[in-house]
Amino acid sequence: MKPGPYSILLSKYRDGRHSLRFLLDDTFFSQYDPEAPTGNHVEVLLTMQKSDRLVDLKLHFTGAISTPCDRCMELYPQAIDTERRLIYTPNREEDARSDVDELLPLDPQNPVIHLEQELYDFACLALPHRRVPPHCPSDACPQPVLAYLKEEDSTRAAGAGAPATEPPSRVDPRWEKLRALLKPEEQEKKYGS
Ligand SMILES: [Zn+2]
Repeated sequence: MKPGPYSILLSKYRDGRHSLRFLLDDTFFSQYDPEAPTGNHVEVLLTMQKSDRLVDLKLHFTGAISTPCDRCMELYPQAIDTERRLIYTPNREEDARSDVDELLPLDPQNPVIHLEQELYDFACLALPHRRVPPHCPSDACPQPVLAYLKEEDSTRAAGAGAPATEPPSRVDPRWEKLRALLKPEEQEKKYGS
C-alpha cells in the first residue's frame, strides 16, 4: 500500500510528541461510498506520542457529515465531536491494554501508518443513532413528506390526549374488590404499611 495523504511516515518524526491535522472532505468520503452525499467537512486533530517501541495516537474528530434525516430523508449536516485512541505496535500481545479503541500492527521494517480506514470508520461511528435535525419537520422538508408528518403528529397528539383526561392515579375497580377479599392481616403482610 502506497503512502497517501492520510498516511504517517514515521521516519519523518523523532521520538516525542507531534500534532497533525487531517481534513475529511467530500473526496475522502466518496472513496468509500461513491453515493455519499456532498457537504462533508470533518477535521481530525491528531496527537502522536512516538517512542522506540510504539506509536500512541489520540484523535479528536469535529465537524459535520451530510446525512439524510430519519424522518423526512432531507440531507442535513449532522455535527460530530468524538475522541479515539489508537496504538500501533510490533508487539501487540505485550502492549495489550484496555484504554485504547484499537491496537494495530506496526511493521518495523516499513514504519508507515495508513489511517484512511480508521478515520473513515471512526467518523461514521460518531454519527448518532437517531438522525433528526432539531428543526425537522419544517418548511425545508419535501412537501409530501411534510404533509404526512403533520398528519402523523396530529394523530399521535389526539391519541395521547385521551388517557390524560382520566384521573391520574385511578385504581382498577377489579383490583379494589380483590383487595377487599383478603383478610386484614394478609393485606398487611402483602402490602406492608
Ligand atoms: Zn427531517
